[in-house]
Amino acid sequence: MRVLLTGGAGYVGSIATERLLDLGHEVLVFDNLGRGHRAAVDARARFVRGDVRTPDELESAFAAFKPEAVMHFAALALVGESMKRPGLYFDNNFAGLLRLAETMRRHDVRRIVFSSTCAVYGAPAVVPMDETQPTAPESPYGESKLMGERLLGWYAQRHGFLPVLLRYFNACGASARHGEDHAPETHLIPNVLRTALGRQARVEIFGDDYETPDGTCIRDYIHVLDLAEAHILALECEAGGTFNLGNGAGYSVQQVIEEARRVTGRPIPVTVRPRRPGDPPRLVASAGEAATRLGWKPQRPSLRTILEDAWAWHRARPDGYGDRATG
Ligand code: UDP
Repeated sequence: MRVLLTGGAGYVGSIATERLLDLGHEVLVFDNLGRGHRAAVDARARFVRGDVRTPDELESAFAAFKPEAVMHFAALALVGESMKRPGLYFDNNFAGLLRLAETMRRHDVRRIVFSSTCAVYGAPAVVPMDETQPTAPESPYGESKLMGERLLGWYAQRHGFLPVLLRYFNACGASARHGEDHAPETHLIPNVLRTALGRQARVEIFGDDYETPDGTCIRDYIHVLDLAEAHILALECEAGGTFNLGNGAGYSVQQVIEEARRVTGRPIPVTVRPRRPGDPPRLVASAGEAATRLGWKPQRPSLRTILEDAWAWHRARPDGYGDRATG
């Protein structure tokens, strides 16, 4: 299939690109390189530098490549940043999707796999969370993704789109060639491993007074290769749908740090800081729907494997893709 990936130079998108190409699909990566990396784009993929908010750039990419399906990764994805700059998030994540959906409609492309997030739920009433949990986002990031889901729902109803909405929990790990490289880095696992590498002095723990067994927040860490696999299955899904993607197991910040000390064999000093605004205490997926309807079964659920793979990437590329100066 000819698949256009927006955001294919980013973390999850670069690994989905790799997997699609391995399976023999044709891939065009469309990315503004605002946060992604040119070096993260697999050499077998075509590449266009473009922005989803710019209709002309989308138009020429669609006209030249004639995609049969779209995977839409291009988005901003930091809760904290979205609390400070909501407009940036609605512009990139919602207005960008609207432009993309209109371009798809004009070119008669109906199949789209959309990167959504567990942030659409806000703080859950029940854990583990399935897709029937009420959506009540607590950040502009979560809201912008929920608005995107709803837009695609209307395009499904009115224009025959086939959207598959994938609500990721905490993406982590790496493939042999691609991993996580954000600047600045805000995510827990890369920060823990950067500390193990001596690139930062200590890990800041954002709050140790939550109502959890050790007082630190619990998250469902899902290997990026398992996420990539869900996208492949979603591409084949005829009916569309909404799916939580997680392992169904939660680990606290403390547990992640302890396991990282074992995996790296290095001391990882910590310091406790105040809570980070917008962080719910516990987010754990129930991914039964993805198992039943997509046939998705995570192959790398253990935190140890996740940390080993991420550690291999960070050790091999301590400076990431090495293009920080240019974004
Ligand atoms: N966290 C932390 N120190 C860090 C980064 C994150 O204590 O340097 C905590 C954060 O407060 C949250 C969890 O680790 O409870 C996961 O955060 P991350 O930013 O990786 O993902 P999020 O759940 O926000 O998408």
